Amino acid sequence: MAKHSRRTEYTLVDVLRNRAQVLGDKVAFTFSYDGDGVDEVTLTFAELDRRARAIAADLTGHGAAGERVLVLCRPGLDHIAGFFGCLYAGAVAVPVHERLAPRLSAVVPDARARLALGVTQTHSEIMTALDALDEGRDLVWGLMDAPAGDPDAWSPPVVDDTTTAMIQYTSGSTTTPKGVVLKHLNLIDNMESIRESWQGTDADIACLWLPSHHDMGLIGGVLSMVYLGCTAHLMSPTSFVKRPMRWMEALSRRGATYTVAPDFAYQMCVENSTPDERAALDLSHLRTAMNGAEPVRAGTLSAFAEAFAVAGFDPGAFEPVYGLAEATLLVSGGSDQAAPKVMHIDRTALAADEIVETEPGEHSMAIVSCGRLRGGAALIVDPVTQRRCGDGDIGEIWWAASSVGQGYWGRPESTEQTFGAFVDSPDNFDSPDGSDDSEAPCLRTGDLGFLRAGELYVAGRCKDLIVIRGGHHYPHEIEHTALAVHPGLLTGRAAAFAFTPGVRQVEQLVVVVEADRAKVDPAEHDTVLETIHERVAQRFGLQVHSVLVVEPMSIPTTSSGKIQRGECRRRFLAGELAPVATRRPATAADD
Ligand code: ATP
Ligand code: MG
Repeated sequence: MAKHSRRTEYTLVDVLRNRAQVLGDKVAFTFSYDGDGVDEVTLTFAELDRRARAIAADLTGHGAAGERVLVLCRPGLDHIAGFFGCLYAGAVAVPVHERLAPRLSAVVPDARARLALGVTQTHSEIMTALDALDEGRDLVWGLMDAPAGDPDAWSPPVVDDTTTAMIQYTSGSTTTPKGVVLKHLNLIDNMESIRESWQGTDADIACLWLPSHHDMGLIGGVLSMVYLGCTAHLMSPTSFVKRPMRWMEALSRRGATYTVAPDFAYQMCVENSTPDERAALDLSHLRTAMNGAEPVRAGTLSAFAEAFAVAGFDPGAFEPVYGLAEATLLVSGGSDQAAPKVMHIDRTALAADEIVETEPGEHSMAIVSCGRLRGGAALIVDPVTQRRCGDGDIGEIWWAASSVGQGYWGRPESTEQTFGAFVDSPDNFDSPDGSDDSEAPCLRTGDLGFLRAGELYVAGRCKDLIVIRGGHHYPHEIEHTALAVHPGLLTGRAAAFAFTPGVRQVEQLVVVVEADRAKVDPAEHDTVLETIHERVAQRFGLQVHSVLVVEPMSIPTTSSGKIQRGECRRRFLAGELAPVATRRPATAADD
């Protein structure tokens, strides 16, 4: 398998040092909670460099070089300064969102760090949370708002591009989050791929709400902006969730040219805005609106483009992207096409993992292209036989690139399984430059998809695939169909999964949806349940065993809002979902 190499031989420390020298007074980051500029705090590149030096001088006094350092603070400028402070000390940054107990309980014991960075304001809160989890009692803390270190006493760490820079935890959609070990060269290489995918420059203006603790928010957001030397305006993820239009308003007010978010965020802006609110905005500057981290829906792209046309939004700005923490972030994105390509695949063929193009409609699934491969080579492989698939088949995406991480922290077995895969015949690859310089192992992404005309199409995750009577079905499609039956069902808040009721029995489908109590009258529950049952049967030819309507926030998700279908299945089987309404099979015939 070809491994595309783009050795840079410089580090993230060099990148920020250079920005501070060349663009010192330029604003690197602003943060205002609601994105409206109220109580805004800013950092120029020179100030960020100075803060990082002070934090690093402090950390160095604690012998941090080469050690893991937890960066435990909420999204904002302290978090960014802390991250660079670790790198400036030659330490390994382990960013964690401090307010989310499940993240803390997964990451803190796994990282086994001796040192942590925080800020005075939230320090005692975090200590209480860690105490409750029975974790982190021995951590040695550095408080970033009062660093004892002198920025002028800082001396550059002994690092090069092969030094480990950070441990990036996966989202935890399918299992407990796993830490991916990333070197400076992985990060630099991936940021160069991201830059290539949208041709960003230092003249761009970014506006972001994604948490800056890992992949899209950290690498596609914060670090990429430092890499380019452009200004990024940040707001709180919580503020976005409370009122999604704050994001659009911030984009308009800042004249932003770049943003990035998952599909559901764009959908939320369509559903939670009025024509007048949209008409008051100017989105004509926006030239790149990345959409990734979850399946990109063609319906979202068209609904958003239509709704925000009045604000001057250019549909060509949409850039669907695909990536994963194990690959640092980006695998594919950006295209030569004006607008993202969409393929309509026949559902019957799809159930057998075949790609048969057809017209849009009930009988087809629309798959949006996630653009060109960036800085690496991909194979489409049968996940069971580990042989390369034919051109007309869907298979697992395998990836070889110099931005692929070094493995999972402290997990040699899963590292071997995920990062060390080889196909039967190594001569089959799709590489941008056609080179086949080595027999590097591949990263198994765990995602299904296919390549067409040099672009990658992602169908869904292997682990979440619903297999009923041998047919393959993608849960996000079933979930979307279910949520569309009533406007009071919450956007992006559904889970579809299969379970086997007993030995030698056929797999059964379960659909769980969350309803807004103010918008769905209990008297309507029966109709909602019945309609979901009918629509799923009609569109997918599947009988739903159980449909459940649950309270908001009952479906388990990751801290970034991704549905945890496996955990939802466990809670369903354990009777822990506490539905407000259920439709179970009335007769054995329904099974
Ligand atoms: P975990 O690995 O801990 O279960 P996770 O896979 O969600 O969680 P991340 O690495 O943050 O953790 O997310 C990457 C995954 O997100 C991909 O493997 C893929 O399943 C999904 N994903 C990312 N971009 C897209 C996309 N454009 N279309 C479909 N799925 C996507
Ligand atoms: Mg994953």
